[in-house]
This record gives sequence, structure tokens and C-alpha cells, in this order.
Amino acid sequence: MSEFVMQIEELNKCFGALKALDNVSISIKKGEIHGLIGANGSGKSTLMNVLFGNSVIRESGGYSGEIMIDGQKVEIKTTKDAVKYGIGMIHQEFALIPDMTITENIKLSRENTKPMHKKFFGENLSCIDKEKDRSDAVRALKRLGFTVDTELRAGILSTNTKQFVEIAREVDKKGLKLLFLDEPTAVLNKSDSPKLLEILKELSSEGTAILFVSHRLDEVCALCDRITVLRDGAVASCYSREEFSVKTLARDMVGYDVQKTVSERKFIPNDILMSFKDFCVDMPGEEIRGVNFDIYKGEIVGVTSLSGHGKLALGYGVMGFYKTSGEVFYKNKPLVVEDIRGTINRGIYYLPDDRRGSGLLLEHTVAENIVFSGFHIKNMFSKGLTKTLGFFDKRKGLSHIESFIKRFEIKCSSPSQKVIELSGGNQQKVCISRALTMKPDILFVSEPTRGVDIGAKEKILDMLVEINRKYGTTLVIASSELDELMRICGRIVVFFEGKLFRILRSDEDEIEFALAISGEKYEN
Ligand code: ADP
Ligand code: MG
Repeated sequence: MSEFVMQIEELNKCFGALKALDNVSISIKKGEIHGLIGANGSGKSTLMNVLFGNSVIRESGGYSGEIMIDGQKVEIKTTKDAVKYGIGMIHQEFALIPDMTITENIKLSRENTKPMHKKFFGENLSCIDKEKDRSDAVRALKRLGFTVDTELRAGILSTNTKQFVEIAREVDKKGLKLLFLDEPTAVLNKSDSPKLLEILKELSSEGTAILFVSHRLDEVCALCDRITVLRDGAVASCYSREEFSVKTLARDMVGYDVQKTVSERKFIPNDILMSFKDFCVDMPGEEIRGVNFDIYKGEIVGVTSLSGHGKLALGYGVMGFYKTSGEVFYKNKPLVVEDIRGTINRGIYYLPDDRRGSGLLLEHTVAENIVFSGFHIKNMFSKGLTKTLGFFDKRKGLSHIESFIKRFEIKCSSPSQKVIELSGGNQQKVCISRALTMKPDILFVSEPTRGVDIGAKEKILDMLVEINRKYGTTLVIASSELDELMRICGRIVVFFEGKLFRILRSDEDEIEFALAISGEKYEN
């Protein structure tokens, strides 16, 4: 008999060109609680999807590698296969059918049938034993310490209750050997999370192994017997209980090889340029709430978070893209965020993360893109004495455009080449040139290096630093690239669950950052 319930060897999974799982080998012991952690996008959900036979894997070209259950090689092609091998999964998104009752959801496709009827009509035609189903459902929920009317429709239940119904469905299955949970506590409230963890401990003591995904490091440490860390789709480390700590795990999540050029940009607080007071932005999927924070004149401040935790909302909020509440003060006066033109005229500008959607006029030329906002909003490059007449002064404009193309090495055949034909990196350089043309006092930048190659990345970071040094432009850079922020920023603001969680100096230990991004504080 194998000591392992599941062994995974050299698992590889690609989505198109993206390698989501890279030679992953993990063994799960019988009855153990095995934690799986890693930053956003490190491949945790993909791994579970492969092991549970979810259709998304098949539809995107399958996977390669070996899976063994109880020491036997198996193929898990569909979720049906997985269930057959005694695997259950609690999804990150709920998989309950809203119009069915709690009982029906728990017993779905495993209904009890009345023996008499079975005899006469065969299994499929036999009658469902509703009473038995109900008592099973009640028992499964009771085992979780949960009492609720099992005849309620699933659609009306609270998120917490739904989560427990999903778990009840799994524990009601006979022969459940291995249970996968993908961030189950992310949707639970504070009082229910510990309850769930207790249930998992109990299940494991009864022999069910558990693979538990979470990014709450304290929780994983408290619960798990062993922990595997994924980084960029590959196994970074695997520890048993005596070996791991929140600190080691955080370090492995970020990686030893984070290039840390100690920032020479010491943060010196001086004049406050912009202040947020109880600032909230209703950006769908990235809301921020109750932000209080000052930006100092001349600094480069980074803003980071996991995706969906709010890093992008600050800039969009200031520029009036979404509904906001609270106050923003700029140069000691209130800022009316709804008045976008007024905001720009006061020296505030924004480079969105969605270059193609809202940043660039793709069908227009490099030249037009660089001068467009300056000409239309600030009447720059206008001809003659009466600037308001607004004739574009080609000579003035062109020398400005050419100087930018040269300075930032924008690779284009000529200023009249269409922007749509440029590479991502060069499109971004055009975007930054346009922003610089406006000579802003403060520039909000989102994901400046997303989707650009390494060479262009360096150039873009250089450009940002140059803007700050040469023109004294204050920069607020929202990015998921922590190492880039650590290189060029003085301070970095970390958002978690829509709230400003911590403000760290960029020369602080990476581990502090990893913890803050996961919503953790490390107490020495
Ligand atoms: P995690 O759960 O650790 O946050 P995921 O497993 O969801 O990470 O994602 C790993 C990587 O695979 C990410 O880069 C993600 O964008 C990509 N990915 C996940 N699912 C799909 C999909 N269905 N199609 C294309 N790419 C995907
Ligand atoms: Mg996930």
C-alpha cells in the first residue's frame, strides 16, 4: 500500500503560449492536510482543475504528466473520473444550482432510491427517497455544526451558507479520499473561517486528505501538515510542519531571486501635494474604501496589491472614471474629480493600464497621439497670436514630436506611422510621451510595463525616473510588478481587500511586502 493518496509527476499545462504549470511534482499523503500557496497567477487553481478533470483543461488543449492514486497510474479526463477515484472539490466560485433546495444540491446525482421501486422499474426509473435524502443532508450539515432548513432554495442563501452546503455535499459522499478546496475562506466571514478550519481538521483525522489553497499565510501555517509553494507555475518549495513559518513561505512566494537594487530614492516627506480623505472608488472588481493618504511633492510612490484588491482604482478615481466619495485635496484645495478637464488643467494626468482601450488613438499616427491632448486640452502648438483659434502649428509640433521619438527611442518608421502597427513597448512610450507633453505636476501611471518585452521594460522604467528627476513630476505608479516598484519608488502603498493595508519603504525586506500583499503582518 502506498503511503500517498495522490502522486503527481512532472505535470505541465499551457494556455496557448503561457505556461501555467511547469513540471509540477507533488505527493499528497493519506489523510494529511496539504497546503498549496503562491501569489496570484502562480497556477494553484489550474493545478486543481487538472486534478479534478475540469472541462476548462480539456478545452484548452489538455495537460501532460502523470497522476497516481493509491500508487496506481490513472487518467483523469473528466470530473466524473475524479469523483470515481474519491476526489471532491470545493470551487472558488460556487457550483450550486440556485433553483434547487439545499437537500437536492447536496444529493444531486447521488439520490437515495426506494428499494421496492428499484426492483420493479430499475435504478433510473425508481423513486427518489426524499425523506432519506433530507436526513442525509441534515446529517452532513450537522456534522459541520451547521443547522439550516434544508428545504430552502440554494439561490437565496448567504455566501457563508453556500460554502457550507458545498462542503456538506462533499462530506456526504462515501469514500471521499481527497478533498480540494480553492481559497474556501476568501468568501467566509471572520467567525466562520475558524469553524471551517476545524471541520477540515476533523475530516483529515477521519482519513480524508485535503489539498487546501489559500493566500492567508497564518491560516495555512496553523492548519497544514505540509505545504507546497508554487511560483510562476513551478514548485518553489515543499515543507513539513517543523520546517515552515510564515516568513519562509512568504520568501518563497516572492522568490530568492528578486533583483533588489537598493533604492537610492530615500523618501523624504516634504510638501504635501495631494491628500485623500476617506476616499472611495466604485470601480467594479477593484473598489477601494476609506483611503486616507498623502502624496508628497516630487516623490515616486508605488501602489500595489493582488489583482482585484484595489491598486488600479486610485488613479481612475482621481480622473473621475468611476463614482467616488470622500475628498481629494490638491495643492491645498479640493479637487472636483468629476471635472476631468479641470483636473488636467490643474496639472494632473493619467496613463491608464488599458493602453489599447482608453490610452491611445490606435488608428492615428505617432505624431497625432503625442500631441493630441496637449493641443486639444491645453492649446499647445497653436499658431499665431490668438491661441484660441486653434490652428495646429506643424513646425512647432513636429520638432517636439521628433525630440520625443529620439529621446525615448520610439521604434517607428516615421512620425506618421499608425500607432496600431507598433509593438506594445513602443505604444507605451508613445503614451508616456503624450503624458509628458502635458507637463503634468503629478502623473498617475498604471501597469506601465505590462505586456512589453524586457528591453522596453527597462527603457520605460528609465523614462519614468527621468521624468521625475528632470521635471520634478510626482509619480504614482500602480503595478503588480513589485520588484520594479522596489527599484524606482521611495514608498510603496499596499492595498488589501480594497483598503490601504500598509505603506512600506521600498528598501524594506521583500518578505514584508509579500506579507502585506497577502494581507498579513509579521510580528517579530
Ligand atoms: P492562481 O490560482 O494561482 O491565482 P491560476 O491557476 O488561476 O493562478 O492561473 C495561472 C496562470 O494561468 C495565470 O497566468 C492565468 O492568467 C492563466 N490562466 C488560468 N486559467 C486560464 C484560462 N482558462 N485561459 C488562459 N489562461 C489561463
Ligand atoms: Mg486561483
